Amino acid sequence: MRKCFKCSQKAQVYLPQHRLSLCKDHYLEWFDNRVEKTIKEFKMFKKEDKILVAVSGGKDSLSLWKALTNLGYQADGFYINLGIGEYSETSEKLTTKFSEKIGRPLYKISLKQEIMPIPEIKKHDSRPACSVCGMVKRYYMNKFAKDNGYKIIATGHNLDDEAAVLFSNTLNWSIKYLKRQYPVLPEEDGFIRKVKPLCKISEKESAMYAVLSGIEYIEEECPFSEGATSIDYKVFLSQLEEKSPGTKLRFYSEFLRKMYPILQKSEEKPVLKPCKICGEPSINEICSVCNLKLKLKKQEERV
Ligand SMILES: [Zn+2]
Ligand SMILES: [Zn+2]
Repeated sequence: MRKCFKCSQKAQVYLPQHRLSLCKDHYLEWFDNRVEKTIKEFKMFKKEDKILVAVSGGKDSLSLWKALTNLGYQADGFYINLGIGEYSETSEKLTTKFSEKIGRPLYKISLKQEIMPIPEIKKHDSRPACSVCGMVKRYYMNKFAKDNGYKIIATGHNLDDEAAVLFSNTLNWSIKYLKRQYPVLPEEDGFIRKVKPLCKISEKESAMYAVLSGIEYIEEECPFSEGATSIDYKVFLSQLEEKSPGTKLRFYSEFLRKMYPILQKSEEKPVLKPCKICGEPSINEICSVCNLKLKLKKQEERV
């Protein structure tokens, strides 16, 4: 029997990459501390900042919201109902229930009201659903935060997410994206500061946190994410991780430590200007969401 490193009770959790055995209470404490350390390491925000957490009903965003609340931050939730059938219904229900449980406000918007549900958009747009979805989420999140006086947007991206994106960007040598791959994106040109406090926490670790703290979360993945290449990269990286624990964390944190600073030296930044229609920042005259709306409107008129 493994014993907890802290209190010598029976351990419930073993973290191979940290060679650490912990009981339930000490695991929950470890997790909160690790989130706090990451916030400090990357100077993400301070105790007095108003934070908006992007919640989806999944383990990562709800665990993040819980940890921030435990740590004494003023974190409120923001949920976008994407209109993806039962998946969206269940995730909205669980998110709402969770917000009541921790006693923090949850703001909700519905894509059906703003544009149209993702499955409908998908019929009119040839891009993969995940990229349209990501674009729409980023847009409404930023707009809502600005309109309501939030200075920080926190998302539940975990180490597995970040390592998979890093791997993909490295395979393609997408310098443009590698240059922006940092757990803090500063506020600039109409964008609110965005942070990823779970960037050093693995998917398994956040799932264990959710389970051990009794969070009810939606377990199924979004039906549209099936077949995404990022899933293949995650599987591959997890195989490496199993053979040598710590690989993912090393891959990601050494990138941040050694490569990221070098990339910042090369100057060349896209110029952003306010979108002619809605005023949100954009590379083009009209931002991608307004562009999507125009396209959908044109197609509707044709029908
Ligand atoms: Zn213990
Ligand atoms: Zn616009």
